[in-house]
Formats: sequence, structure tokens, C-alpha cells
Amino acid sequence: MVLRDFISIYCREKHAGAARDVFPFKDERLRQALGDIELILCPDCTRLFSHATAKLMLCTYDPKPMCKKCQTHCYAPGYREQIREVMKFSGIYLIKHGRIDLIAHYYL
Ligand SMILES: [Zn+2]
Repeated sequence: MVLRDFISIYCREKHAGAARDVFPFKDERLRQALGDIELILCPDCTRLFSHATAKLMLCTYDPKPMCKKCQTHCYAPGYREQIREVMKFSGIYLIKHGRIDLIAHYYL
């Protein structure tokens, strides 16, 4: 799941000094969907990721379009800008580190 990878890179690189903790999965389906790995985030990123995954689970479109191409902007104001920032930062980070495969996965 790309969002998980992107936010985890972002938090690791930008919030290394923050008190980071394992993301508390309340929803078992979500935990499975994310590949059952530990996600370590700071409190801010935990909030952002909770919001994003809640929206993802509630998406009414079937099949779900890519969020950036979607007509409905379901993220609350503020969160949308933050997610955009996360995607931009981690996208550039991955390109610099030669992980084009992950980028392609997100954009294709
Ligand atoms: Zn963070």
C-alpha cells in the first residue's frame, strides 16, 4: 500500500526527533490490507494516516479511482495539503533512492 510507504518515509525523514510509536490499528481488515507490518509514526502522522485510511475505507466509488483524479475531495481541509506534502516529499525521496517501481505503482 503506497500511502503507508510514503507516510512512513516522510515521518522517518522529517520527524526523526519526534516521539514515534507503532500505529494502533483499530480495524483488523485495515491492518491486513496494509500487509500486516509495523508502521511507526509520530502523533501528527498518526492522525493524518488515520484520517486518510478512514476516508479510503469509506470511499463510495467502485472501483476506487486514484485520489488525485477523483471528483470528490473527501479529505478534510488541512489534511489534503498534508497528504500532498507527504506524497511530494516521499516521491522525490524515492526517485533519489532509485525506487522508481514504487512511484510507478502510485502513478500508473
Ligand atoms: Zn511524522
